[in-house]
Amino acid sequence: MLHRPRKRFGQNFLVDQQVIDEIIAAISPQTDHHVVEIGPGFGALTTQLIRSVKKLDVVEIDRDLVETLKQQFVSEKLTIHAADALRFDFSALGRNIRIVGNLPYNISTPLLFHISQFSDQIADMHFMLQKEVVERMVGMPSSPQYGRLSVMLQYRFHMEHVFTVPATAFRPMPRIESAIVRMLPIPRSDLHVRDEKIFARIVAAAFSQRRKTLRNSLQEFMKENDYAMLGIDSGLRAENLSVTDYVNIANHLAA
Ligand code: SAM
Repeated sequence: MLHRPRKRFGQNFLVDQQVIDEIIAAISPQTDHHVVEIGPGFGALTTQLIRSVKKLDVVEIDRDLVETLKQQFVSEKLTIHAADALRFDFSALGRNIRIVGNLPYNISTPLLFHISQFSDQIADMHFMLQKEVVERMVGMPSSPQYGRLSVMLQYRFHMEHVFTVPATAFRPMPRIESAIVRMLPIPRSDLHVRDEKIFARIVAAAFSQRRKTLRNSLQEFMKENDYAMLGIDSGLRAENLSVTDYVNIANHLAA
């Protein structure tokens, strides 16, 4: 079947076998693993995953590709979900799942936030994303890459930039470089946010004016004595606070 890549579904298909092999090696799928792949496309990763694991669920939005996948892969191990990963209930797939995918770049941030909700059920995740997004995810405090995405995801996951993938590995070729990121859920007990809505609001407010001091950007929420109680300098900027600082601020306000 001739398939015209759909821009709206972020379709850049992996064609470089060496890169595919490196991604599979990074995932290291084993016979007792339950893997969930987002956006299998023509099955560049699926082909190798299905050989190694006991159970594979794939979530693909493009119905033409779903039909192709159904014809290409006939296996009891495989369940194909014709669905939007942004609305998909990953909790329905059980516990200890390993999520992987060469993600559609146009929805990568909302998709990461959606999947984060299911972190209790997830063993680990490996994603291909824009390199620039991976750099923001793993960005450390006081670096230009550190921002809302870093804090919101580092609260839930240990993350590692595994390797960079050149644009030449895809068809059609994207204009940007990509990277593989590994995400390991952090047990909730290690760093516990009492009210996640407050946490999300504080982090968004702080970084919405990242050049301003906290005194200004969080003036709606925090007074000088609040900063004093937490031992945080209100003259700092959003990018200078650690994830733990944000958790402490949110928990202070929740109390
Ligand atoms: N895994 C294939 C590969 O590496 O060649 C395809 C990767 S391509 C970058 C992204 C895939 O995600 C496409 O197959 C696309 O149709 C699918 N996709 C896009 N938006 C999606 C969504 N909201 N839910 C599920 N799949 C989606």
